[in-house]
Amino acid sequence: MSELPPPPATRSLGTSGIVVSSIAWGMWRFAENGRTAADAAQLVHAALDAGITFLDTADIYGFDGEGGFGDAEALLGDVLAAEPGLRSRMVLSTKGGIIPPLPYDQSAIYLRKAIDASLTRLKVDSVDLWQIHRPDILIHPQEVARALDDAVASGKVRTLGVSNFTTQQTAALNHFLGHKLVSTQPEISPLRITCFENGELEQAMMLGLTPMAWSPLGGGRLAAPESARDKAVAGALDAVANAQSVSRTVAAYSWLMAHPAGIIPIIGSQNPERIAQGAQALAVRWTRQDWYAVLVAARGERLP
Ligand code: NAP
Repeated sequence: MSELPPPPATRSLGTSGIVVSSIAWGMWRFAENGRTAADAAQLVHAALDAGITFLDTADIYGFDGEGGFGDAEALLGDVLAAEPGLRSRMVLSTKGGIIPPLPYDQSAIYLRKAIDASLTRLKVDSVDLWQIHRPDILIHPQEVARALDDAVASGKVRTLGVSNFTTQQTAALNHFLGHKLVSTQPEISPLRITCFENGELEQAMMLGLTPMAWSPLGGGRLAAPESARDKAVAGALDAVANAQSVSRTVAAYSWLMAHPAGIIPIIGSQNPERIAQGAQALAVRWTRQDWYAVLVAARGERLP
């Protein structure tokens, strides 16, 4: 049976021409457990040294920890301050627009403040990608677009993306933007397959957006599946993983990467060995049959 094309080591971030690794590393859990700057630096090095140079954070990450809102960005800022040379080795992406736990706010005045605050915490002049974390349905997309276009014009933000947007919300914002969106970040994993059927990935291909998959292991559920359905998905991944001598989690990343939209899984592990191991996903090959077997297990019923 013929194999699907292997994923490239790098991809263009949307149509921006910015080169990103085809696997990203995320910092949702970065500021947990009182992690020191030295330990944090070790994680950043683990990713970069493995060729995972696309880093994803958000202003809200760490809000439920010791320091609160902004903790994960501030920790990365400390790492960058101690080792400024790291900045040029990464494509740095962050998000804003949620005031925890509510509300969402994308008023122009809030966005301006949020972007400035992120840059201050990160101790950088600009970020390569700035994403709206979740849609604020109380603001006209034209107002959001004006604020975001201004952020690009000011040089604080190189490119723009969205996360957790419906296709219509993405289309509306993109319509009003001068600097068009380059990315979208939905939850996608072998346990969360909605995007394969709801048109989000087709829209990404039509608009030239890079889809970034959050929680590619279902927040870790794939590593320790409990329900019958999750176990079936794990079993279908294991068939490929065992045959190619990789872990199930690596097989899960590569399953996402085989999709023609060019999905970039965001590794969520904060363990240096597991982060580095993620790069093995580039070498895993899928046949159509094996790929669909995972999808069928996730659907819980046969394809029509
Ligand atoms: P995930 O990869 O689905 O889950 C990671 C979790 O699984 C970690 O706690 C990790 O623990 C655990 N895990 C257990 N066994 C593992 C193994 N063998 N290999 C790897 N991980 C294992 O990802 P996630 O952390 O939920 O999300 C990934 C990234 O997506 C975040 O960092 C963030 O950048 C982004 N995100 C975005 C949104 C959004 O709304 N846009 C929402 C959630 C997440 P260890 O650390 O001990 O390995």
